[in-house]
Amino acid sequence: MLDTLMDILLFRLHKRNADSKTPKLTTGTIVFGGLIRLSLIVIAIWWISDVWEFHQFWPLFSLMVIMIVFYPAYREMSIFSDAVDILKESTLCGSCKHFEPSAQICSRYDEHITEEHIPCEGMDWEPHS
Ligand code: SF4
Repeated sequence: MLDTLMDILLFRLHKRNADSKTPKLTTGTIVFGGLIRLSLIVIAIWWISDVWEFHQFWPLFSLMVIMIVFYPAYREMSIFSDAVDILKESTLCGSCKHFEPSAQICSRYDEHITEEHIPCEGMDWEPHS
């Protein structure tokens, strides 16, 4: 069902990389998922305050943003950081100067790196200077 509602609005439910080339969880999916969730909360709060004339919505809005946007995004960011640490230790790319850990990407090939997919297959590895 629409890819399980875009893997529950992009935080991806800890799925493994489907095609082993593209990581399911990246900083981009976390930020995009946070923005979608925040937009849905704003629409819901706007509807609640308009239809039910509930004008003291700031405490509810703050609580929903913390519980539905910030805390899940923080938790997924920790999982992403752990995955990148494992990737750095288990692949050649971890010691290469072209590896961008914040995006789990090779800056030379502009491709994501996974344990199963190293874009240059080790041919363009260069040490950090
Ligand atoms: S150049 Fe090769 S070894 Fe270096 S980060 Fe890119 S894919 Fe990995």
